[in-house]
Amino acid sequence: MKVTPFILALIIFFQLQSQEKQTNIIFMIGDGTGLSQITAGMYANGNKTNLEQFSVIGLIKTHSSDNLVTDSAASGTSMASGVKTKNGVIGFDLNGTEVSSILEDCEKMGYNSGLIATSSIVHATPASFYANVSSRRLYEEIALQFVESEIDYFIGGGREHFNKRTDNRNLITENNSFKFVDNLSEFESSQNERVGYFTSDLEPKSILEGREPKLANGIQSMLAKLDTKEKSFFLMVEGAQIDWGGHANIENYLLSEFKDFDEAIGIAIQYTKANPNTLLIVTADHETGGTALNSGDIKTFTPQLNFTTKNHTASMVPIFAMGKGAENFAGIYDNTLIYNKLKSILAQ
Ligand SMILES: [Zn+2]
Repeated sequence: MKVTPFILALIIFFQLQSQEKQTNIIFMIGDGTGLSQITAGMYANGNKTNLEQFSVIGLIKTHSSDNLVTDSAASGTSMASGVKTKNGVIGFDLNGTEVSSILEDCEKMGYNSGLIATSSIVHATPASFYANVSSRRLYEEIALQFVESEIDYFIGGGREHFNKRTDNRNLITENNSFKFVDNLSEFESSQNERVGYFTSDLEPKSILEGREPKLANGIQSMLAKLDTKEKSFFLMVEGAQIDWGGHANIENYLLSEFKDFDEAIGIAIQYTKANPNTLLIVTADHETGGTALNSGDIKTFTPQLNFTTKNHTASMVPIFAMGKGAENFAGIYDNTLIYNKLKSILAQ
């Protein structure tokens, strides 16, 4: 066949079409991170936070189906799957029907997926993206559902939920699709299709205790991995211990974890700006600690935090969006609508 300029143009057109990837999604969740946490974290960091780089901002209603004050399981399920459920429940709606998460929807569309958490990988927030369990405490069942999921990469704690189990199974040695590695450089260099890095046996240490890797380094390695693929990707990143600092009512704990999360946001922003086919959203599942800033030192920008509870509160939490489809995330709305908005962006 003679290749005319017309046929050549057609070939180039179809090649470009096939190369056009769908929207990458980076979904970052600061557990327990309300406005007071952000404000205090900003002042403590010399009056700056990477969140100032966002121009699309909204507020999220966080209540669960049975309580104005949600837990991370119910709110994680709402954000990940677009349904309200009871506190403690992961991946089921109120009729007891299993719901699909945005990560699973993306996988069905041929995406690659990744999870990073500064908690164990079976903790409520990451679990909301792949598990369906009646109780968030069913860690061994969640681990089982994790290895049966389509997730391609993870960085997080909780190794012993996989290899020191009451059913005596060892999900790590049983599993031959995941390559499990012990540090970030092995994570980066592994050529395996699916790679997991357990950062701890149970829950990872806090930043104050010297946790490694930093979330910023984790997200950098993860993005390098996801970016090398031809496929689009979905990545969930959780700063889990901002919440734990709030529960403990310990200011330094909270602020150091927020800083770790904020630095990771900086890496995600760089990636999103360099890759316009990417949507970055940063939000929280709820506020923790009923945290208030009643005083502080203006000369040094040192905030003085006060706590009104050791639990979560019902305060709305902010959401920040940047990149492709970001404009959809302005306004005040229910946490379930985050899922709906993501779905409509994927359908475009
Ligand atoms: Zn909590």
